[in-house]
Amino acid sequence: MFRKKRIALLGLMLESNSFAPVTGRDDFLSRLYVAGIEMAEELRKDESKIPAEMHSFCATMDMSVEWEAAPILIGLVEAGGPIDHDFFAQTLHDMKGRLEAAMPLDGVYICNHGAMITTEDRDPDGDIFEMARSVVGKECPIVATLDLHGNVSDRMIAAVNLVVAYQTNPHVDMVARGREAALAMSSMLSGLRPVSAIIRLPVCPPTVTLLTDKGPYADLMRYGQARSGGEIMNVSILGGFAYADTAKNGLCVIVTARSDRAVAEAVAQDIAEYAWSDYRRYDPHL
Ligand SMILES: [Zn+2]
Repeated sequence: MFRKKRIALLGLMLESNSFAPVTGRDDFLSRLYVAGIEMAEELRKDESKIPAEMHSFCATMDMSVEWEAAPILIGLVEAGGPIDHDFFAQTLHDMKGRLEAAMPLDGVYICNHGAMITTEDRDPDGDIFEMARSVVGKECPIVATLDLHGNVSDRMIAAVNLVVAYQTNPHVDMVARGREAALAMSSMLSGLRPVSAIIRLPVCPPTVTLLTDKGPYADLMRYGQARSGGEIMNVSILGGFAYADTAKNGLCVIVTARSDRAVAEAVAQDIAEYAWSDYRRYDPHL
């Protein structure tokens, strides 16, 4: 019998400055923190608070696949300090219970920022990615979108099939990246299983050097995106967020190939070498 593809939607978006005051439940509630039916209602609103990339993901899925959304939980707040650990743990637990209840699922879309820390943990984005994988199993496609200020851990990459990061700073390409994530999900629902290579450089660029109209990061972004296409499904180059102050900080190159791991690794290496050859330009001259 025909059954619509069921795709879970979830995310918790926070850019944490390690040295700023704690971000708590009230901060999220004042901006966006909805789950289940409430989240479904928010998704349907014309002037919704749902992140633009998640909206775009859903709109693109509507046009490409017979699907239904399984709204899990979405939280969003302005950049702040570390998230209160107990609140994060409760949120993760809630997400897990709702994901389990939503099974069987055909896919998962995670909409995170990527530079969140908690008052006790330096990789809560990795916790969310791994939790999702643990619930849906290793065959179920998972795609994630991230801000280019995200700090990516190896376990984040290991847990999902594809990471799609913003390519513009200031950020104006959320709609394009949401669309890209949905088209990738559509391909994965047809059997594609992409493979990713990640190289993290020992460079923590100051935020003032991460603009994408001109400067070293703009040049790197152009160099990397020129390699996207054909076997290369996505090139994501994250400048990261220095003030999250984590062991996973560092300019990060993620290359995803449609199936050929060796090609992904070679292209990632080439882009990383270009970045390294240019690293002195990330020294800010204020
Ligand atoms: Zn950002």
